[in-house]
Amino acid sequence: MYLKRVELHGFKSFADKSVIEFTPGVTGIVGPNGCGKSNITDAIRWVLGEKSAKALRGDNMSDVIFSGSEDRKAQNLAEVTLVFDNEDHYLDYDANEVEITRRLYRINNEAEYYINRQPCRLKDITTLIMDTGLGKDTLSIISQNNINDFVAQKPEERRPLFEEAAGVAKYKARKRESVAK
Ligand code: ATP
Ligand code: MG
Repeated sequence: MYLKRVELHGFKSFADKSVIEFTPGVTGIVGPNGCGKSNITDAIRWVLGEKSAKALRGDNMSDVIFSGSEDRKAQNLAEVTLVFDNEDHYLDYDANEVEITRRLYRINNEAEYYINRQPCRLKDITTLIMDTGLGKDTLSIISQNNINDFVAQKPEERRPLFEEAAGVAKYKARKRESVAK
């Protein structure tokens, strides 16, 4: 399983539909300051379930929608799709390619989520990626401050990361749900 493609439309500085293709192995994204490199990782975080606008370097979630420029008017919605190669069926989904989409409308702040173009809940996405190491709170994305935070954390704060890596987070979540019922 690997991230094959990121499609952005109306997300932050990506006003027009942009498609970024990845191949297995290491990919570097380079460009001048402010050209949108970090916006790509923000987009990935967003689709993987980030709920905090601050974590996406904004004040409100609608700040992820292209806000216009000198020669372009603002967009009404932001949409990002992550396409995972799932030929090894690492993701528990019966398809060789898994597309996860998140969409946000400016007008009513309404969010939509899709897995392989079928509408779903955010919870379906978090369940799909739970224990895969892709989740928004895992180390699949390491930002500049992550390392310092990790070193400074108390053992109990650090524990969920190990649980995710060990693949037991899913079972703990299911247990919590069944106990609550
Ligand atoms: P650096 O090398 O400094 O880290 P970067 O390539 O990571 O830069 P980003 O932080 O990804 O750059 O992009 C910042 C740019 O994105 C800024 O020009 C900012 O105006 C633009 N931007 C952020 N949000 C929006 C938005 N909602 N609409 C339009 N442009 C946006
Ligand atoms: Mg940056």
